[in-house]
Amino acid sequence: TKYVLITGGVVSGLGKGVTASSVGVVLKACGLRVTCIKIDPYLNTDAGTMSPFEHGEVFVLDDGGEVDLDLGNYERFLDVTLTRDNNITTGKIYQSVIEKERKGDYLGKTVQVVPHVTDEIKQWIQSVSSVSVDGQTRPADVCVIELGGTVGDIESMPFIEALRQLSFSLGKENFCLIHVSLVLVLGVVGEQKTKPTQHSVRELRALGLTPDLLACRSAQPLIGSVKEKLSQFCHVPVENILNIHDVPNLWHVPLILRNQKAHEAIIKQLNLAGSAGPPELR
Ligand code: ADP
Repeated sequence: TKYVLITGGVVSGLGKGVTASSVGVVLKACGLRVTCIKIDPYLNTDAGTMSPFEHGEVFVLDDGGEVDLDLGNYERFLDVTLTRDNNITTGKIYQSVIEKERKGDYLGKTVQVVPHVTDEIKQWIQSVSSVSVDGQTRPADVCVIELGGTVGDIESMPFIEALRQLSFSLGKENFCLIHVSLVLVLGVVGEQKTKPTQHSVRELRALGLTPDLLACRSAQPLIGSVKEKLSQFCHVPVENILNIHDVPNLWHVPLILRNQKAHEAIIKQLNLAGSAGPPELR
């Protein structure tokens, strides 16, 4: 299984969930089998006890798991059946580490965030991604992981570190990072501003992760020179800069990605050309 990680910068509520589901859809349309993991860096074990006013509606999975609404998006967009383990929270990770510590599994070692919590995160990701969610027996070709929150949050640091280690051990061909960012227009100037994206990419790089693709949210489609500027300053090839502008209907987002050949960029990055269907499928 190869991984596509979706991170977000600048502000929360950018549409990472919609981007993750839509990336899954365009890859599935290429004949690849896709599974998903949502990481929520909060200490609640699951979303079942969280106020819907704060967190949005809770989504209940077939196995009874009470999870983030994004998993509902994945199920609808990708026609898969996920389990409660596809939603990883800080609460679940710590619970598991503390249970292991009480059983003596760490053989007297000092139990620490690095390596014990980060190892637990890596193991969890790798074991969940190998579970088939589409009724077939083989594991999926691609696992899309959405990291909730914004890069740089204290809460998400152990996950960022675990994902950095995972990307390093798996290698470039097995791990593709898509960073979702915001390009905003200042009323007085009327220009599409790239600086917040530049800063959030720099923050990501400081933590050891380099984006392979950028998905820029904007109110209106980006103009060409803005993409070139982003490419130059964020060190991402211009064909890997995607633009997801505001749409009246979320089902347009996979089409926007397909029209910008997002699937080709991801398939090339992950060296999946052989496993994807014939070009006419793409
Ligand atoms: P995140 O996962 O980053 O918190 P979500 O995927 O939950 O964000 O999306 C936040 C909100 O933005 C949702 O209400 C979603 O419907 C809306 N949204 C996302 N992408 C778009 C888009 N391209 N056009 C219009 N609304 C969008």
